[in-house]
Amino acid sequence: MSLSFEFSPEQRMLEENVWRWASTWLEPQMEHLYEKDEMPPDLFRELGKLGLNGIVYEEQYGGAGLGYLETLLVYENIARVSNALAMTVGASQTLAFDNFRRHASEAQKAAILPKACSGEYIGCLGITEPNAGSDAMSMTTRAEKKGNTYVINGSKTFITNAPLADVMVFYAKTDLGKGPHGISTFFCYPKTTKGFVCEKIKKWGMRSSPTGLVTFDDMVLPEDNLFGGINQGVQILTSGLCTERITLSGCSLGSMRACLELSLKYAKERVQFGKPIANFQFIQGKLADMYTRYLSSKWMAYSAAAFCDGLENKAGGKGTDLDRMAAAALLHCGEAGTAVVSDAVQIHGGYGYCQEYAVSRHYLDEKLWHIGAGTSEVRRMIIARELLRDDFASGR
Ligand SMILES: Cc1cc2nc3c(=O)[nH]c(=O)nc-3n(C[C@H](O)[C@H](O)[C@H](O)COP(=O)(O)OP(=O)(O)OC[C@H]3O[C@@H](n4cnc5c(N)ncnc54)[C@H](O)[C@@H]3O)c2cc1C
Repeated sequence: MSLSFEFSPEQRMLEENVWRWASTWLEPQMEHLYEKDEMPPDLFRELGKLGLNGIVYEEQYGGAGLGYLETLLVYENIARVSNALAMTVGASQTLAFDNFRRHASEAQKAAILPKACSGEYIGCLGITEPNAGSDAMSMTTRAEKKGNTYVINGSKTFITNAPLADVMVFYAKTDLGKGPHGISTFFCYPKTTKGFVCEKIKKWGMRSSPTGLVTFDDMVLPEDNLFGGINQGVQILTSGLCTERITLSGCSLGSMRACLELSLKYAKERVQFGKPIANFQFIQGKLADMYTRYLSSKWMAYSAAAFCDGLENKAGGKGTDLDRMAAAALLHCGEAGTAVVSDAVQIHGGYGYCQEYAVSRHYLDEKLWHIGAGTSEVRRMIIARELLRDDFASGR
C-alpha cells in the first residue's frame, strides 16, 4: 500500500499552469469584478485556450481525459484567487456538462461537449426549487409529454451561472405518481428557448459568480432533450452530487491555502508593540490551526477524488462508499474553511475587513460551503445513513 500523497510531475505542472494563469490574469481583475458582481466575460474562452474546461472529458470532445483528482486540483488553484469563480467553473464543467457527458447519447454529446470545452458554451445545473431545497426529491417542476415534445412548467432557484448560461441541465417530474422515481433529466438552450425566464439574484458573497432564479413557462422542448432515460433522473442526480462534492471541495481548499499564505506574509510584515505580529503566540496559534485545517481538508478531499478515479463506473449515490466519502470531504472542507478564513481576517485586523484585502472576499465566499451542494446538515445525514448500513466496513 502506498500512502504517498505527492502529486505526479504532470499534476504539479497542471497546478503550476493554473496558478500562473489565475494569479496573473484573474487576480488583477478580482477586486473590481467582486465589487461589480460580474464574471469576466471571456472567462470560459480563456480556460478553453488553456484546455481547462473539460478535465475529465474524453479527448474526442476536446477534453483532457484526466481524472476528478486533476479537476479538484484545477478548482483549488482557481479558488486561491477566487472561490466564487472556481464555483462558477465547477457549475459549468462538473455539475452541468460532466453529468451530461456521463449520461447523454453520442449524438447529444457531439452537439454540445466540443463547445463546452472550447468555452463557447457555459453550463448550469438546476436541481433546487423555491420550495424544494434539501428535500430536492419533492421538486414540482413538471415535464408533460405532448406528441414528440415535452412542455416544461415550474421554477429552479439559486442556479449558478443561469443568468449567462448557454445550456441548462435540469431535473423535472415526468411521472407525478412515482415520487423520486418519476424524475427525468433534460437540457435546454436558455438563450434561444421560448418560455425560459431568468432573474439574477443579489448575494452578499460569491459575488462575480452569477446566480439566477429560473422560471419555465410552457417551455416546449423536443423529446430528444431528455437524456439518461425516462424516470432515471434520481440516480443521475445523486451520483452527480458525489463528484460535485468532491471537486467543489477545491473551492474551500483554495480559499484556505490563499488565506494561510496571505496571513503568513502579513503576520511577518505587520509590526505592533515594536515586533512583527508573527512573534505573538495568539497569532502563531491561529497560523498553526489554519495549516492543520488546510492539510486535513486536503487529505480528505484528494483521497476521495483518488478513490472516485479508481472506481470503474465512478458512480456514487445511495448505498455507495463514494456517497459517504464525498459528503465527508465537503463537510470537513466547508467547516474547516470557514474557521480558516475567519482566522485570516482576524490576523489582518481592520485591514481584513476592507474590500481591497483578498481575505475579505474569501471570508464572504466561504460560508456558501456550509450550504451549497447539500447543506452541512444534509451531508451529516448522508454520512450517518451510510455508516449505519449493515455492510459498512469501518476504516475507510
Ligand atoms: C450561491 C448559491 C449557489 C447555488 N448553486 C446551485 C446550483 O447551481 N444548482 C442548484 O440546483 N442549487 C444551487 N444552490 C442551492 C443549494 O444547493 C441549496 O441552497 C441547498 O441545497 C439548501 O436548500 P435551501 O436553501 O432550500 O435550504 P432548506 O432546505 O430550506 O434548509 C434550511 C435549513 O434547514 C436545514 N434542514 C433542512 N432539512 C433538514 C433536515 N431533514 N434535518 C436537519 N436540518 C435540515 C438545512 O440544513 C438548512 O440549514 C445554490 C445555493 C447558493 C446559495
